[in-house]
Amino acid sequence: MSELVIKNLQVNVADTEILKGVDLTIRKGEIHAIMGPNGTGKSTLAYALMGHPNYEVAGGEVIYKGENILELEPDERSHLGLYLAFQYPVAVPGVTVANFLRTAINAHRKAADQEDKGIPIPEFRKMLKERMDLLKMDHSFAGRYLNEGFSGGEKKRAEILQMATLSPEIAILDETDSGLDIDALRIVSEGVNALRGSDFGALVITHYQRILNYIHPDFVHVMLDGRVVESGGPELALKLEEQGYDWLREKYGQVVA
Ligand code: ADP
Ligand code: MG
Repeated sequence: MSELVIKNLQVNVADTEILKGVDLTIRKGEIHAIMGPNGTGKSTLAYALMGHPNYEVAGGEVIYKGENILELEPDERSHLGLYLAFQYPVAVPGVTVANFLRTAINAHRKAADQEDKGIPIPEFRKMLKERMDLLKMDHSFAGRYLNEGFSGGEKKRAEILQMATLSPEIAILDETDSGLDIDALRIVSEGVNALRGSDFGALVITHYQRILNYIHPDFVHVMLDGRVVESGGPELALKLEEQGYDWLREKYGQVVA
């Protein structure tokens, strides 16, 4: 049983304590959503899990398949079966989406077996087409240069296609707080819904309260001031949609800036 266990995770950014002890367990087959107001540390959690150098782990551990992944390089985390959004360069001029994906798949195969000669092209083409159909994407997308002139939504699509082709056991997706929120959330949600099943788990990070209109998480968590303060089922997201975050701020103490 693959599960990602986050235990008392503390993370500093620029010498400021941002995550103050996050506990969370995500099992394969489960879809989790983390919600919370802006600035509460949601993206910090995603960056720390992917191993971004600016996010200094000050305490705690993240166990996956018997290893503390915080001690692994980002690519090693990926080879273990985790998908961490944004783990690859954002723009790769002159490289098509298809070539990029094939390189990523081959890196995974090589990590699992040094002797691997790479995925045969016909097999790759077939797989890519299947995944693009699953995600309802136009096949021409695969021939475009990765992220060159991509809209925000297209970048998200490339990311989701990458996730779908790497077939991770657990994916961590931060849909960021930029202006394209709703569009991005829709693309991410459709991808997660399409991949949903007993072999796939996900942690979807969003600040958008209407997440239930797009995705059907099994578990909903709320982050406030660097901690997960409340966890529940979809009804928690409904309550947040109706009542906002103020009741939580009162319950757990107003965050003083
Ligand atoms: P959220 O994703 O919940 O909106 P973030 O994790 O992006 O929150 O940010 C949490 C806090 O960490 C904020 O106060 C933010 O200003 C601070 N922070 C995040 N990244 C950096 C950074 N690179 N440098 C300085 N402060 C940062
Ligand atoms: Mg964020």
